[in-house]
Amino acid sequence: MSKSIDSLLWQEGFLKLGNAFFTTLKPTPLPDSFWGAASQDVAKNIGLSAGWELDQHNLEVLTGNASLENQQAYSTIYSGHQFGVWAGQLGDGRAIHLGTVQNGEESFEIQLKGAGKTPYSRMGDGRAVLRSSIREFLCSEAMAGLGIPTTRALALTHSSAPIVREEVETAAVVTRVAPSFIRFGHFEHFASNQQYEELAQLADFVIKNHYPDLIDSEEPYLALLEKVIEKNAALVAQWQAVGFCHGVLNTDNMSILGLTLDYGPFSFIDATDLKYICNHSDSAGRYSYLNQPNVFHWNLVRLAEALLPLIAPGQDEALIDAKVEQLKELLFQFPQKYEHFYQEEMRLKLGLMQAENALVEELVLLLDRNKVDYTFFFRSLCDVVDAPSIATISVIKDLFLDHQGIDLWLQKYLAMIPSDNAQDIAAQMRRHNPKYILRQYLAQKAIENAENGDFSLVHQLHECLQNPFDEQAQFSEFAKLPPDWASQISVSCSS
Ligand code: AMP
Ligand code: MG
Repeated sequence: MSKSIDSLLWQEGFLKLGNAFFTTLKPTPLPDSFWGAASQDVAKNIGLSAGWELDQHNLEVLTGNASLENQQAYSTIYSGHQFGVWAGQLGDGRAIHLGTVQNGEESFEIQLKGAGKTPYSRMGDGRAVLRSSIREFLCSEAMAGLGIPTTRALALTHSSAPIVREEVETAAVVTRVAPSFIRFGHFEHFASNQQYEELAQLADFVIKNHYPDLIDSEEPYLALLEKVIEKNAALVAQWQAVGFCHGVLNTDNMSILGLTLDYGPFSFIDATDLKYICNHSDSAGRYSYLNQPNVFHWNLVRLAEALLPLIAPGQDEALIDAKVEQLKELLFQFPQKYEHFYQEEMRLKLGLMQAENALVEELVLLLDRNKVDYTFFFRSLCDVVDAPSIATISVIKDLFLDHQGIDLWLQKYLAMIPSDNAQDIAAQMRRHNPKYILRQYLAQKAIENAENGDFSLVHQLHECLQNPFDEQAQFSEFAKLPPDWASQISVSCSS
């Protein structure tokens, strides 16, 4: 354990892959730097000891104003499909990797988001504004608290440097941490350029470092695809069950490890609306809440296409046809896999002995028709299971216009809960139904305060959301139903 970022166990990591995969460069300094927030949990994971956030040099490194000794920073190249259309080359336009750190058995890539222009910035300024950086910092840590696979955030630092978006805002940098930031788009990049050697190198790197069990498979690249399908089916099932909407599910925002990646206009659902679109630039609703599993499936097909030259190398058409059939079969299984994971999540939320698909579907439609607050409903249902009284049931019924509908559903549901075990079941349910989520309006308030120099709400939300399933009396305000103005908040891609 060390206080200084320089003295962590830095490894060659992604740099081993060679120049075709990245450009080495330095972050562009900002005129001044301040701590905004820090995650002790992430610090511990990478081997930083207590007090690391008091070190001025660490602040400068994480804002991009100082470089690490003997450590070459880099940005990676990738491509991708955006909103269903091939977008060609993209790459880390504002993310600069400091490198890879080993801690015990685990290794972590450490990356500064918003650290200045890179060769992949295209028309962008390479910066991130404080507003979107607070959202990313809080949400990645909140997702981790919920037990949902995600990239993490070690730190949020900020500066007075003006950044022009729809309005003039100020700059910030989020230090992101993940076992790997490799995206579907990295594979699409080398496949689309017919750089099959690099494509194989990348796949081998991912398998060796992240899916070592696959090394000895008969067909490791096919096995890799199967694993990525599995991981992503599980991930999107968790999103749907908790009511999380990503907002920009382009293939360049899809993680090869099945992590939630690139927090932009994301939102948790307040009032249930299956057609909910959290990104106001997504007018067709391609990335609506309900469509997320379909989009994962579509994105996985793009990944399969990119891996095909490895799975069926050469020009033998009969082999290619046979492998395409095999890939199709794997991909056809996605909806079933997703459904299996989703029903399992819902079984746990409802405290049932076995999956009850029809009961879940009926409930979700009721929540949608009555525009019931998704998180509040499930948490209140735990109280009903714990003690089915007029008081607990009326909290739930008051959320619905259709009283008869929810009455009938509750009757069916409660008949499935054994009364002699109800309190244990309720306690278990509370481990699967968060009391606290990062509601849009809470993030908005925290941002407004921080923009005026007061980060206390950012810190309180951060603390609260690390344990979203626990009763935390001091944070009871955060569990309340959102105010009316919350539904008017609109979030764009601009960040
Ligand atoms: P996104 O969909 O926001 O994850 O980003 C799509 C692409 O745009 C990626 O290549 C990003 O690196 C790039 N990008 C987004 N914002 C900026 C910015 N302000 N400056 C440079 N590149 C950016
Ligand atoms: Mg992105």
